[in-house]
Amino acid sequence: MRMEQTGHGRLRDRFGRAITDLRLSVTDRCNYKCVYCRTGNEGAQYTELATGDYLRMVRIMVSLGIEKVRLTGGEPLLRSGLVEMVHELSTLRTAFLSDGTATDSGLPIDLALTTNGHLLEPLAAPLMEAGLKRITVSMDAVEPETFAAITRVPRSFERVLAGVRKATAVGFGPVKINCVLLRGFNDHQIEAFAEFSRREGVIVRFIEFMPLEEDRSWRSETVIRMDELVARLNHFRPLVELPQHSASETARRFTFDDGVGEIGIIAPVSRPFCGHCSRIRITSDGKLRTCLFSQSDHDLYGRMFRGGTDQELAAYIRSVVFQKEERHHIGEPGFEKPLRNMVHIGG
Ligand code: SAM
Repeated sequence: MRMEQTGHGRLRDRFGRAITDLRLSVTDRCNYKCVYCRTGNEGAQYTELATGDYLRMVRIMVSLGIEKVRLTGGEPLLRSGLVEMVHELSTLRTAFLSDGTATDSGLPIDLALTTNGHLLEPLAAPLMEAGLKRITVSMDAVEPETFAAITRVPRSFERVLAGVRKATAVGFGPVKINCVLLRGFNDHQIEAFAEFSRREGVIVRFIEFMPLEEDRSWRSETVIRMDELVARLNHFRPLVELPQHSASETARRFTFDDGVGEIGIIAPVSRPFCGHCSRIRITSDGKLRTCLFSQSDHDLYGRMFRGGTDQELAAYIRSVVFQKEERHHIGEPGFEKPLRNMVHIGG
């Protein structure tokens, strides 16, 4: 897909952060009801735009300097036509060179997917053939009973494990596994996850629980903070820190003293990384979201629907990105949870 260069220079916010990383939620439907995300009471209502609408939005964003696109949801593998969408997106090329100079040849964008893995086994090979580069699978336990208690779907662990192994076998390795730790639910799984990383050749990334859940049950005490987690892992086996891939990398990376296994720790609550944030999101209903904790979204789809040209939409995106929040305020007095939770925003 070729793009038109719209506007001038890379997308930047008013704090000078270059915005290069887009999360696109392709549906807000999900086949899991994870206890820390959803109430489990939701009806059949969900919002998805036509594939062509998402593709147009991404094309414009890439023309403005987006280099990484991560498909998410809801559960993106529930979205019909996802493989074709991946194929279209895989032909997009970045609009700027690493030194910020505009180019019309570019490099292929970095195209990734975050999934719960339930439907991954049959889709791993088609997604690889369609041009997907990387897969992250969310798994909050490596023990079937705890897994099913969290997802509220019986026999879900076996399906996801089969999906992870298939993704590795078709060449997505090392697959990243994201685990949100909650005290009292799955913190007994920390050492088992370390073993899982070493045994399966996957990168396990622990993420601190953020106040983004539907039933507003977040408590500071439920969060397993980075320091506590590092102590637990060091007790299991001494950790050795690995270098960061880039300044905007959100995870601190570790291996063990024998070099086997890789653990990432993402600590948005205890060590916020807002100063290096390079992200913007498009929600499944086509709204721009500048921060996970924004109090309101910006209706890009509405402007498209009313006949906005690519240039007008690009100018709108620039103005919205410019206003991106400096940082989130989790844990500070007066912190307000966003009105829409993770499943709507796209994690
Ligand atoms: N359904 C897909 C999946 O499970 O990966 C994509 C969407 S899901 C909302 C994306 C990620 O957000 C998952 O790894 C999930 O564990 C994480 N997540 C959801 N709620 C969260 C919260 N309150 N704090 C931290 N991470 C959360």
